[in-house]
Amino acid sequence: MATVFSKIAAGEIPSYKIAEDERFYAFLDINPLAKGHTLVIPKQEVDYLYDLDDDTLAGMILFAKGIAAKIKAYTDCNRVATVVLGLEVPHAHIHLIPMNSEKDVDFSREKLKLTPDEFAEIALNISK
Ligand code: AMP
Repeated sequence: MATVFSKIAAGEIPSYKIAEDERFYAFLDINPLAKGHTLVIPKQEVDYLYDLDDDTLAGMILFAKGIAAKIKAYTDCNRVATVVLGLEVPHAHIHLIPMNSEKDVDFSREKLKLTPDEFAEIALNISK
């Protein structure tokens, strides 16, 4: 059965899309730690990031690099944190999180509640 992230990449489940190419898809995390919190996934369905073949893994990092630059420009954060958990969704993904201090990447913190309009505006600004 396809993972929820495969369904998002295929457009079967809606997402706030940031970027896409033949191999990768990026979209806003629906429970963000910060405005601009983005997930980068391979379209290939692999659970554990380090089970990806070397070429795909390297390509995913380069794809994430371009998006991180856009997130940084939009949010004006000190840097964009790159975090890999994978505790919830069994489809490899990288979290890109605007960060100014360590507490900004504390996943036990309460997540932001954003409206659909706010998500859409953030996605539009990062993806342009
Ligand atoms: P983890 O697998 O522990 O890295 O966490 C999965 C992340 O995916 C969480 O931050 C969720 O908020 C996020 N997530 C789960 N379902 C969706 C969805 N349909 N759209 C956007 N983000 C999602």
